[in-house]
Amino acid sequence: MGADGPALAALLGRAPTVAELAAYGATRAARPATRGPAPGEKKERKRERPSSGEGRPARKRAASGGTAPPAPQAAAVPDEESESSESSDSDSDSARKRAAAAPRAASGSPAPPPPPPPAVPDEESESSDSDSDSDSESSAPGAPPTAPTAPAPAAVGPTTLVLFYAYRPSEASAQETTRAVAACARAMAAHGVTGRLRVAGEGYNATLTATRAGARAFCERALPLIDAATFDGTVDFKYVDGLPAGHALPRAKCWAVREIVTYGFPAARAPLGGGAAHLDPRAFHEALRDPESVVIDVRNANETTIGRFAPEGGARVLDPGMRRSTDFPAWVRKHRSELAGRRVLMYCTGGVRCERASAFLRAEGLAPAGQLAGGVHRYLEAFPDAGGHWVGKNYVFDRRFSHGARGAATIGACRACAEPWDRFQAGAKCDACGMEVLLCRTCQRSGGGNKKKYKGPLRCHLCA
Ligand SMILES: [Zn+2]
Ligand SMILES: [Zn+2]
Repeated sequence: MGADGPALAALLGRAPTVAELAAYGATRAARPATRGPAPGEKKERKRERPSSGEGRPARKRAASGGTAPPAPQAAAVPDEESESSESSDSDSDSARKRAAAAPRAASGSPAPPPPPPPAVPDEESESSDSDSDSDSESSAPGAPPTAPTAPAPAAVGPTTLVLFYAYRPSEASAQETTRAVAACARAMAAHGVTGRLRVAGEGYNATLTATRAGARAFCERALPLIDAATFDGTVDFKYVDGLPAGHALPRAKCWAVREIVTYGFPAARAPLGGGAAHLDPRAFHEALRDPESVVIDVRNANETTIGRFAPEGGARVLDPGMRRSTDFPAWVRKHRSELAGRRVLMYCTGGVRCERASAFLRAEGLAPAGQLAGGVHRYLEAFPDAGGHWVGKNYVFDRRFSHGARGAATIGACRACAEPWDRFQAGAKCDACGMEVLLCRTCQRSGGGNKKKYKGPLRCHLCA
């Protein structure tokens, strides 16, 4: 590891400790291994999506992402990219599909047998079990398909996923942003971190993978050195450890964007100070019991097809039916009467989409009462067994594709044959609007031969 010394020192701005060197070395060593196609893996290129919340659904895949060869470092890309990154999901799709094809059978029937032996304390198990289903989907580490439910994934695989977003205390200049992009890209390389990190004047938004140690070193040591004001110990890093090697994101991409979630309106129009209160999962859970409240699903429509909140006898869930986050402002204006005077709650995948969205409500003269802190991701960690008020899976932008509570039901259906199905793995898109749609494996293959050969008409639930 001697060779790593200088690079690490440059990164840290001081001489690295032995432990840091070791971790750094291990991180790099681990990478290559990670790359090998795991059972479900094959080509991972696809899957680039925005991070936790930012997903954007329908995008055209133009972006640099999807197919471009692994660009080692970050290049500054135009804003559009951000979105495109998501589209690159098309890749992800293929990846998913492969994944799905592999290990476990359809989500429905063969269901996850007996609940995973939770040998772990709650907190850990949560994250792990959230993945458990994904694990199964994407195939176990390199191994046999059978492992799906058994071991608590927490200790199974070598890959750690980390999701986070952070708004800066004050807007950074373009120059500062450029510098941060370069520094982050270097640090990602130094710690063996891959995935996507968007940097804007307003903040950061990331979906990254690395080794367990590499992920923590990057988030908790490197980032504070790069931007101490933002990474001051208050940022919520959502780590998911023990994922199979195939869950490692293949490329490292760090780039500048205008907004960490693309809403298309200036940040000044919806200052974060006007956002709704952050309710932790328990508090949000309680709030959902109130039948007089309304709760807005701030995610995109394709995401809602596989999972959503459904508080029985409680708050009324409003699904804006958005194809992309930029549809939000128009929806709010059109539905103002349903929101005015009500106790308005909101949620998204990991929390970031609610930040600006709730601030936007305030700017529009409405009074958002609460947003789910940490999003559905954290909620399912708090309700890992029955899922609380959540039904189905939580659509995510990493190679888990989705995760849910133990034994989560499949609430989605193939758009072609209506069979219960909840894996967006086919790269199938609505013929009319381009939004990602569910297509079961049988239908995917119905066209014969390769994946994505489905020939029939496909319409999303919004266009149908
Ligand atoms: Zn089908
Ligand atoms: Zn459509």
